[in-house]
Amino acid sequence: MTHYFAEFSYLLASILFIFGLKGLSHPDSARRGMHMAEFGMLMAIIGTLLHREIVSYEWIIAGLVIGGAIGGAIAQFVPMTALPQQTALSHAFGAFAAALVGISEYHCHGGTASHFTLGAVGADVLLGSLTTTGSLIATAKLQGWLPGAPFTFKGQNLFNLALFAATLGSFVWWLAVPSAAFAFYLMALLSLAVGVMMVLPIGTADMPVVMSLLNSYAGLAAAATGFAISNNVLIIAGTLNGFSGFILSLIMCRAMNRSIRNVLFGAFGQAADETAAATGAEPMREISLDDAAVQLAYARQVAFVPGYGMATAQAQHAVHELATMLEARGVIVKYAIHPVAGRMPGHMNVLLAEANVPYSLLCELEAINPEFPSTDVAVVIGANDVVNPDARDNPTSAIAGMPILEVDYAKSVIVLKRGQGKGFSGLENPLFSKPNTGMLYGDAKESLMRLAEAVRAA
Ligand code: NAP
Repeated sequence: MTHYFAEFSYLLASILFIFGLKGLSHPDSARRGMHMAEFGMLMAIIGTLLHREIVSYEWIIAGLVIGGAIGGAIAQFVPMTALPQQTALSHAFGAFAAALVGISEYHCHGGTASHFTLGAVGADVLLGSLTTTGSLIATAKLQGWLPGAPFTFKGQNLFNLALFAATLGSFVWWLAVPSAAFAFYLMALLSLAVGVMMVLPIGTADMPVVMSLLNSYAGLAAAATGFAISNNVLIIAGTLNGFSGFILSLIMCRAMNRSIRNVLFGAFGQAADETAAATGAEPMREISLDDAAVQLAYARQVAFVPGYGMATAQAQHAVHELATMLEARGVIVKYAIHPVAGRMPGHMNVLLAEANVPYSLLCELEAINPEFPSTDVAVVIGANDVVNPDARDNPTSAIAGMPILEVDYAKSVIVLKRGQGKGFSGLENPLFSKPNTGMLYGDAKESLMRLAEAVRAA
């Protein structure tokens, strides 16, 4: 009876995951989708707790309490700006768990398992191990514990290819001789090394794409675990995770006009740094707070263009307040959202939703670009790369071809940033030196609050 109830919980969990994922594809339904996925996970846990092979609950309850406490604390205390590294760390834990299940399966049933099950166990350990170390390196780079620039050396791609071939070689050797525990553990060790070597040459700017790929590998590892231990919910959830992660990586690459190959083997950040060093900065025109406030107060249409700086400054509430004030004066306000603004997909949408900005005011790149020529003021809030006109105008730029928000076509541009800091690509941005651009220096949140006061007085 409990067996049927467990299978029913798994079925319900799988359906909830699918609908949850569908809900996450649009801001309007994202919250509902998230709740569905959470409920699905609860169902999957309940189903697992009913498993007939469980002999005692002490360790499981201890794990639930400790894990739940750590997860709750992370959700409470990790700032939004640290979400990318926190996500990378979660991938590392998930993948490590999948790899450990594979190792324990080999220990317990390795002698009697079919070749299909052994293949699933091997794939689980291989993908789980490389995702664990790859995600840990990604966490360290994003957190600043390791240098963010790509780590490269001559013949690196060849070396990595040889390492991966050796890993696959030990996998095949072990499949041919399942009693050869040495080959199994050699495969696991080499996979750990592949994870490190795969992520080290990638710069922090490309880390979101890499994380999404690692997410995909962790999902496939979980699916392989599902085949190894005949667990349906792991197979379904792992496959969903694997393919959605891969599709997300492709979407991000398209938004940056890059290929996955270029992201994985292009050492992007380094090339960008070199270009930046060679270019040199043009003088920029500073604008006073009062001038900026008058422009905003008497504009017909204003577009706010948020970027990573809005997230670091936590300025989403301040921008909403200023926007509401302008709307009360009859100004048409829109928010221009670039698909890779910030450090993770949907970063700006999440922050602006938190500040209760109506979704209807958020305009995607294709919708807002034709409107910039008729926009009186574009207010760039801590965005840099996503408004860099070099991507459109300079074919030799490292980000040439990346679709941008064409704020430089607006009648006037006000850029809120702290100083001369570069964007994540490390490139100079000619927008800041254009005659219609005024720089308002300072932390974005403070500048917006001071602007709101000045607009009130205007
Ligand atoms: P960005 O190019 O990284 O620029 C952020 C700017 O914000 C910096 O120039 C910085 O200048 C400013 N800033 C930082 N803290 C600030 C604060 N407290 N107040 C005001 N300004 C502040 O950001 P972006 O335009 O959003 O571009 C995102 C980048 O990430 C792109 O290169 C994109 O390709 C990459 N990326 C994103 C994703 C994704 O999923 N979102 C995925 C892959 C890659 P100052 O230091 O002078 O203040």
